[in-house]
Amino acid sequence: MIEIACEACGWLAVTSQPAHQVWAEHVAACPAVGGAVRHVPDLPPLPKLLPQVRTCAHRLVRRQIAVTAAGVKRYAVVCELCGRHVDRT
Ligand SMILES: [Zn+2]
Ligand SMILES: [Zn+2]
Repeated sequence: MIEIACEACGWLAVTSQPAHQVWAEHVAACPAVGGAVRHVPDLPPLPKLLPQVRTCAHRLVRRQIAVTAAGVKRYAVVCELCGRHVDRT
């Protein structure tokens, strides 16, 4: 048996059916404004990746990512060193 809970409306199900199936049924039926929010118990803490990012001085470059149908070029601002998108446009 597994427990499935919705944080948005307080719905709780204890079932032996496939969780994704039961949850999908609730998502369709959830009365909460903004939709169902699945409560996931004992979520492991997010890995701390920030120190690695902070060490990068970020050398920003503009990369062309697309050209629209109208011929307007679109750019993304990314860091040359670590490749992260730094959108400041
Ligand atoms: Zn709900
Ligand atoms: Zn960087």
